Amino acid sequence: MDGNHVEPVTGCSKVSKGCQNCYAERYAYRLREMGVKKYCDGFAVKTHAREVSKPLSWKGKPSCFCEQHGDLFHDQVPLSFIQSIFDIMARAPSHIFQVLTKRGSRLKKLAPKLKWADNIWMA
Ligand code: SF4
Repeated sequence: MDGNHVEPVTGCSKVSKGCQNCYAERYAYRLREMGVKKYCDGFAVKTHAREVSKPLSWKGKPSCFCEQHGDLFHDQVPLSFIQSIFDIMARAPSHIFQVLTKRGSRLKKLAPKLKWADNIWMA
């Protein structure tokens, strides 16, 4: 899937064997070396409130990844922040959001508190 992407959370920590060759970690350190402000703390978990409403201004390509470089359901990401992202995704129905997580147990716990819409693909 090609198209837009939004990264309201950067950074993560390893949670399973599948994290061994984490692309996001290498990417974060590379961007820190390049002086990209958003990655000044490398792979530490950070939320970026200014990113959250970005999808509302998108035109064109109707596809999107949400979080390629972190895990939205990391324990350090507050529920209120996750809820704000789900609200925005629901308000941008012309885009499909693919959200990836390796933290299925937290996803399951928080799922009833999130605004689910047909354009949110969770994996
Ligand atoms: S959950 Fe994803 S982003 Fe986080 S360390 Fe594992 S592979 Fe990397």
